[in-house]
Amino acid sequence: MTAFDYDLFIIGAGSGGVRAARVAGKLGAKVAIAEEYRVGGTCVIRGCTPKKLLVYASRFAEEFEDAVGFGWTSAKVSFDWSTLIENKDKEIDRLNKAYIKGLDNAGAELILERATIVDANTVQLASGRKITAKYILVATGATPFVPQHLPGRELAITSNEAFHLERLPRRMVIVGGGYIAVEFAGIFNGLGVETVLIYRGEQILRGFDDDLRNHLAAEMEKKGVEIRTKTDVVRLDRSGDGVRVTLEDGTAFGAGQVMFATGRIPNGMEIGLENVGIIHTPHGAVPVNEYSQTEVPSIYAVGDVTNRVNLTPVAIREGQAFADTVFGGKPTMVNHGLIPTAVFSQPEIGTVGLTEEKARAIHKSIDIYKTTFRPMKHTLSGRDERMLMKLVVDGETDRVLGCHIAGEGAGEMAQLLGIALTCGATKAQFDATLAIHPTAAEELVTLRKKWTA
Ligand code: NDP
Repeated sequence: MTAFDYDLFIIGAGSGGVRAARVAGKLGAKVAIAEEYRVGGTCVIRGCTPKKLLVYASRFAEEFEDAVGFGWTSAKVSFDWSTLIENKDKEIDRLNKAYIKGLDNAGAELILERATIVDANTVQLASGRKITAKYILVATGATPFVPQHLPGRELAITSNEAFHLERLPRRMVIVGGGYIAVEFAGIFNGLGVETVLIYRGEQILRGFDDDLRNHLAAEMEKKGVEIRTKTDVVRLDRSGDGVRVTLEDGTAFGAGQVMFATGRIPNGMEIGLENVGIIHTPHGAVPVNEYSQTEVPSIYAVGDVTNRVNLTPVAIREGQAFADTVFGGKPTMVNHGLIPTAVFSQPEIGTVGLTEEKARAIHKSIDIYKTTFRPMKHTLSGRDERMLMKLVVDGETDRVLGCHIAGEGAGEMAQLLGIALTCGATKAQFDATLAIHPTAAEELVTLRKKWTA
């Protein structure tokens, strides 16, 4: 008999929280999970999943154009945004229900209310009810961030609203140069919206391999996205139905919508951490150790709220490791070291391991193998698009330290390359692998010549 109402109380039913609930429930724990918005969290409800559906939608325009070179006569096509949003919402509703069913199957009790921490073993629901639990797991995710002091910030939307725009604007300005900014730039541009991306730094996607960043920016521009770097938005003003955007250098122009994709802040504030003496970082992240445990032994945190690596599969892995550690008797740490990732930009990019810049900073001798080429499809489509493939290799051990790809299927390739790199594959093993012809990926096993600048 437990002295508590539950063995585990989880705050937040997103990717990390739901995984922890299901695993802990299956391991016999009595679990409750609170959610103030919709079960599934950002990824399912207003992130990865709906985003990928919009990416698919936005790619068709090019497919129709490319078909002509293959003998198709282009029919008159048209696009209806509200049909797309309606169908996307149906799919999200289906997934939301599947997540709820998954919790139910694991015996976890779902409480659709906001919960905050009262003490090391107690939470309080918005309705006032207090609940005790042996363990509390904070899995509250993160929220889009719009710079606080920007005049007119209330006129901007974020990715949250982008999924439910009533209609597409004629011109969209996207601020930021990270994952969300480049993905949505591709979506809107593909759907025929005049798209301007404004990024304060030198080049989009800081932290990614420089060749990949430069290649992607050039390809996005070829497709029609206007990328303005080294500048920032200083104010927004209402102008008729739209917004007037003023940049640092004083230039101003109009847009139907302005979307800020300037990062996300962890939801570690206003959840009662102060009641147990946990001090979140200035940006709201909950500090945890390698087992996702806070300094209060009964309170753990996983996913974006901990601001470690903010990716869904990482949150899921952390939720699983938490449940295995606390309820499965199997102390498990998550290796945040080698994480394959894809940006569903257009063209797509996929990457795993070290960038050339990081590898050079860590290792004595680095060999680079890279190629850019016109994908076979575009010999007939006539499209001016090139693919990039790059391997970063340790010159001393021959281990492949990083793979970077831009082009169709890059995300799928990066997933499989992640296995090879996790196994510690060497360049010699890549070379010993037989190619599949004709594919783009065969380039990865046929790169023989070291790159010399
Ligand atoms: P990112 O951290 O990727 O990018 C934020 C961007 O906003 C950067 O370019 C940053 O510039 C810029 N920025 C930050 N603060 C300001 C400011 N005050 N003024 C102007 N620009 C600013 O965040 P996102 O919002 O794009 O995405 C959030 C997270 O969601 C990502 O970390 C990613 O992990 C995850 N995600 C993953 C996806 C995937 O796996 N495909 C898809 C979408 C999101 P600077 O570089 O100069 O700091």
